[in-house]
Amino acid sequence: MNYQHLTARFVSLLGEAGVRENEPMAAHTTFKTGGPADLMLLPRTEEGLVSVLRVLRGEDVPYVVIGRGSNLLVSDEGLRGAVVKLSDGMDSVSVRENSVTAQTGVPLKALCLETIRAGLAGLEFAGGIPGALGGAVYMNAGAYGGEMKDYMTSVRVMDSGLEIREIPAAEMKFSYRHSAAMEKGYIILGAVFSLPEGDPQLSMDKMNELNARRREKQPLAYPSAGSTFKRPEGNYAGALIEACGLKGFTIGGAQVSEKHAGFIINTGNAFSRDIYELILHVKEVVLKETGVILEPEVKMLGEF
Ligand SMILES: Cc1cc2nc3c(=O)[nH]c(=O)nc-3n(C[C@H](O)[C@H](O)[C@H](O)COP(=O)(O)OP(=O)(O)OC[C@H]3O[C@@H](n4cnc5c(N)ncnc54)[C@H](O)[C@@H]3O)c2cc1C
Repeated sequence: MNYQHLTARFVSLLGEAGVRENEPMAAHTTFKTGGPADLMLLPRTEEGLVSVLRVLRGEDVPYVVIGRGSNLLVSDEGLRGAVVKLSDGMDSVSVRENSVTAQTGVPLKALCLETIRAGLAGLEFAGGIPGALGGAVYMNAGAYGGEMKDYMTSVRVMDSGLEIREIPAAEMKFSYRHSAAMEKGYIILGAVFSLPEGDPQLSMDKMNELNARRREKQPLAYPSAGSTFKRPEGNYAGALIEACGLKGFTIGGAQVSEKHAGFIINTGNAFSRDIYELILHVKEVVLKETGVILEPEVKMLGEF
């Protein structure tokens, strides 16, 4: 649909740089696939965010909030309505003794480095996850035994009534790749962590070592969205997929990585449709061969 009649209003709220029409989502996803979003809005402040959401709601325009697009598969047909991308401008980090307050758009690597520089430990696991804080809180991202929830004390959200609230982390129902934001429709605006003191050199070494492990095991030379599937209970998706002989299995430009079967990669010219069909194929074969139902970790947006 054409939203040109609303563009001037959004420009008056966010400035020219904050509004894009027919924006190719391939430029905003780590899979590097996905057709155009009718509108992309890039608020740089919480006030800007509220004001555009009021217009979107008032005009019945569907919308979705994204961060760095590192866990997204967006339809080749693109997205109708608006994509609200929270990144630049909403990316501050402040440290006061052991308390770290971070805004939604800060990349996890930057957050990790900032806390290490301040002599705090605990977020080293996140230094190689390519998302922003908001997406990582939403997903309760985790790696190498750590999860976003571990040292979190509260989360700043905008609720479905557009009210800003500070919610204790204990009330966010965090579990494996899950948070209350998924059911409640919260937009994550930021989070507060209480981190233990650490030794900056040890923390840097730890982060670097974990990142080296990633480079060794994961197909980081190719676009992907990380692990395609959630870890099934008592098992590993990659091990099951490999055991089914699917390593290297290809549909169009999408391939089950030869390096790590838990990753589907874009070998260069994949369409989202290729990736989607490969996800379905892998699910079907793994179910038939092992009886395990694999659930995608990757979030799909648009029509498939
Ligand atoms: C190479 C690679 C390695 C990865 N390794 C890991 C890993 O080790 N562990 C892991 O957990 N993940 C991993 N991921 C996946 C991904 O980086 C994480 O899920 C990350 O937390 C997603 O953050 P994002 O900002 O990119 O979110 P997006 O991909 O933009 O969005 C993900 C979901 O969160 C929602 N969302 C985003 N921002 C907000 C917000 N502010 N408020 C409300 N909802 C929001 C979106 O609507 C969407 O449903 C990896 C990905 C890649 C490409």
